[in-house]
Amino acid sequence: MASEKLILSFPKNVVTKPIVYHVVKDFDLEFNILRAEITPNLEGRMLLEIRGKKDKIEECKNFFKKEGVQVREATQEIILDKELCVNCGVCVSLCFSNALSMNKDSFEIEFDKNKCVLCGICLNGCPVNALKSKI
Ligand code: SF4
Ligand code: SF4
Repeated sequence: MASEKLILSFPKNVVTKPIVYHVVKDFDLEFNILRAEITPNLEGRMLLEIRGKKDKIEECKNFFKKEGVQVREATQEIILDKELCVNCGVCVSLCFSNALSMNKDSFEIEFDKNKCVLCGICLNGCPVNALKSKI
């Protein structure tokens, strides 16, 4: 049995469709929603773990894409290198789940692993590569 963690990004026009329901019904996969931010009429994101036959997982990913859902494989873990970080704050504006924030007293960046949905968006935004993905 294979398993993958996926970041699904739902555009406004797709966000209310019962797309995840098809994971079980059409592809015979097990799923676990690890985190989700879904708001009607707004874009939504979900960290979804799916388990089942490899070919069915691929079919399911293609189905998501056909339905207009952006699919990316989640990174394993995000690491903030405090030695490299210059506290510029760029990553704070990129992180939709508020895992990265600026401490209002020290003006230093703080990273809350529990809020991170492993979307990887911050990785390309850091000008000094202080954010890394551990595979
Ligand atoms: S973008 Fe990079 S350097 Fe800037 S605050 Fe975030 S981790 Fe630090
Ligand atoms: S990967 Fe980066 S941008 Fe995405 S939730 Fe985690 S800290 Fe925020």
